[in-house]
Amino acid sequence: MKTNKNIKAIAKSIKDVNNFPRLGIVFKDVTPLLKNPKKFDLCINEMVKLLKNKKYDIVAGMESRGFWFAVPIAQKLGLGFVPIRKKNKLPRKVISTTYELEYGFDTLCVHKDDIKKHQNVLVVDDVIATGGTIIAVKKMFDKLGANFKDCLVLAELKSMNGKEKVKKVGVNLLSLIKM
Ligand code: AMP
Repeated sequence: MKTNKNIKAIAKSIKDVNNFPRLGIVFKDVTPLLKNPKKFDLCINEMVKLLKNKKYDIVAGMESRGFWFAVPIAQKLGLGFVPIRKKNKLPRKVISTTYELEYGFDTLCVHKDDIKKHQNVLVVDDVIATGGTIIAVKKMFDKLGANFKDCLVLAELKSMNGKEKVKKVGVNLLSLIKM
């Protein structure tokens, strides 16, 4: 199947949920995609294709929906996976960052010793909206001395200009679906 046709099929499995988790938010629900193993496999393959054989040392993904995509992508690339989790979830020493979401504030953490200096990190998430989460993760990885240049997401909410915002901090956004 051709890539464009694949992308259209994948996009059909992302459902809009109005007013979740707050009034005025159109939530992009990717769970129907996870329920369809053929489409999910197609999705992971198409996301990996966007990387065009670029080389990374490690894949990191954001709790929790980012994990659904980051883990299979890390497996496909033959790389390890590092979780970026919410406060008080990781058991060892962490480095953390507080940031603003499309709906509220949050803190993300990563195990300090999971990412080494100068490692090339690929960050994976499900959706980019304002880009605030990615910018926060960039600050966190900068503190650790890692190279975070590429971020791969399933879907980009174009009206929120996240791609341009993350570009300003040196992150190149790769997205499969523009919505
Ligand atoms: P942002 O920091 O604004 O780019 O928001 C991205 C993060 O929030 C991602 O981890 C998404 O899972 C989640 N998110 C933000 N907006 C939405 C939305 N409309 N639908 C689904 N997830 C969203």
